[in-house]
Amino acid sequence: MPNTFFKINFNVFLLLFLLYNCCRGGAGREVSNIKKQNGSVPVPEVFVAMEGNRKVTENLMTPEEIEKIVKSLEIINEKMEPPRPGDWLWVHSEPGQSFTEYRSSHQFLLNSRRRIIYIQPLGSFTEGQKKIMERTADFMERFFGIEVKIKKALSLENIPSSAKRVHPEWGDKQINSGYILNKILIPLVSDDAVGLLGFTATDLWPGEGWNFVFGEASLSDRVGVWSIYRKGNADGSPAEFRLVLRRTLQTAVHEMGHMLGMLHCKKWKCVMNGSNSLEESDRRPLSLCPECLAKVLWVTGTNPVARFEKLREFYKNEGMEKELNYVKKALEIVSENRK
Ligand SMILES: [Zn+2]
Ligand SMILES: [Zn+2]
Repeated sequence: MPNTFFKINFNVFLLLFLLYNCCRGGAGREVSNIKKQNGSVPVPEVFVAMEGNRKVTENLMTPEEIEKIVKSLEIINEKMEPPRPGDWLWVHSEPGQSFTEYRSSHQFLLNSRRRIIYIQPLGSFTEGQKKIMERTADFMERFFGIEVKIKKALSLENIPSSAKRVHPEWGDKQINSGYILNKILIPLVSDDAVGLLGFTATDLWPGEGWNFVFGEASLSDRVGVWSIYRKGNADGSPAEFRLVLRRTLQTAVHEMGHMLGMLHCKKWKCVMNGSNSLEESDRRPLSLCPECLAKVLWVTGTNPVARFEKLREFYKNEGMEKELNYVKKALEIVSENRK
């Protein structure tokens, strides 16, 4: 029986993240299926709807300036290694996406009105899980330079019995992810939302034939739901908390990257690499490679020095040493380059 790792479904552009586990806790597999029409990657409706991330009042960098900056960061980034058996790139052939290809497909993202990422807490949370959610919101804001707001929590108490179940073999209480998207989140999407992301500690399952899902999103409707149920123990030791936090941050920025039109990265080790399992994603960095960073800088208009400074502060506060070291080096290089 297949399990879903993460499932995103929208009109013509489909990304499916499926996890096939023979048993609970077994190795997972992320499947990305990017459907093409007429030989080219189609433009999903959402990209038109969510245009406006870029702050037009700022002194924006040209693509050439961005290219120069990210080129200078290549020295502290590692090229993607050959995939190990079972890794994402062992199983899937990916097209990759250069900065030029990204710009030519997403020009229309640059002007407009949708500029807030909303997070909708769903159900109850432990203290540790609440902290994970708050820090993820804070991190996304620093990472993308897009404002993130957490909405008032909604109860999951009154879910109809048709939209919930107890897993027949494992006994986990689960809620149907499609119900959350269609009945709870879609009616709440506001005009200024880049996206409305449901965040829950409850296990999710997408329907008949599936064991569980980490998340599901309908990009044309600008909604998604993420679960941290399977990310580890947020109320455990500081090291356990950091592991749950790192995994949640990775998922959040990876999926938000997809919502901004970024495809899987295969050139560098990067947070936009596809991943078949928690084990594989734990091996991947939380940072964007030079090529993917160029896309984010271009589409959001974020100042790279300010961005790295904000990330440095976050990693320092959370005791994330590896990430902190990377950002310190990046900041040194970028500051030098911008003089
Ligand atoms: Zn992905
Ligand atoms: Zn990348």
